[in-house]
Amino acid sequence: MKQLTIGDCTIPCEVRRSARYRRITLTVLEDRLRISAPKNLLAKQLKELLLSKQEWIIKAWQKNQNMLKPPMEFHDGQQFLYLGNSLELKIRRHSRKMLRVSLEGQVLEVYVPEDLPEQACPSNIQAVLLSWYKVQARKILQEKLDTLAKRMQVNFQTFRLKEQKTRWGSCSSKGNINLNWRIVMAPDQAIDYIIIHELSHLTHLNHSEQFWQRVVEFMPEYGYWKKWFKEHGHELTLVL
Ligand SMILES: [Zn+2]
Repeated sequence: MKQLTIGDCTIPCEVRRSARYRRITLTVLEDRLRISAPKNLLAKQLKELLLSKQEWIIKAWQKNQNMLKPPMEFHDGQQFLYLGNSLELKIRRHSRKMLRVSLEGQVLEVYVPEDLPEQACPSNIQAVLLSWYKVQARKILQEKLDTLAKRMQVNFQTFRLKEQKTRWGSCSSKGNINLNWRIVMAPDQAIDYIIIHELSHLTHLNHSEQFWQRVVEFMPEYGYWKKWFKEHGHELTLVL
């Protein structure tokens, strides 16, 4: 594998060449930077582009690496985002065999079996929180999808909950909508933006001017939330 050195950072690179690619696309993956480039592009041109994108590459790479750090130990007082608010984690022991999550006001209570060894707690707590978030996400996102689809007078086919590192949502040409469960950590309006965005793809399956006109029609302030995700998206995680 090739490597790209920027400053004191070395990034493994995978270069894909194909006549199918019309332009150069850079994708930051877990362990490498993927460069997709047209087959006939000169090495010199590619080099120039990479040079001009240095700053973006290094930022995106470092952000991604930070997201992949091992999970933080779960402890009392730790904060988690939910619908844009900070919830405080409180861990309690109980005599039952299963872990349980309960939201009491702004306190996220996690009940852990009293005989669960201390070292097994973090991974178990993370797993139960993850499934709690997914249950909430399914409920909240389904409701929002139904309401907004009605308002926008569109019909989608299926809704699936996804877990992706960098995508918040997607819409297929068949009208199937995928949403990342992590968006329930974001403020209400931010969630609406993602859903309006995906529902607008039912009318325009691209990011053309008409597409954005459709988005703006239902959310005039969409620009704020689009930017918000760029700046805060990496905070929407259980793994800190
Ligand atoms: Zn889109």
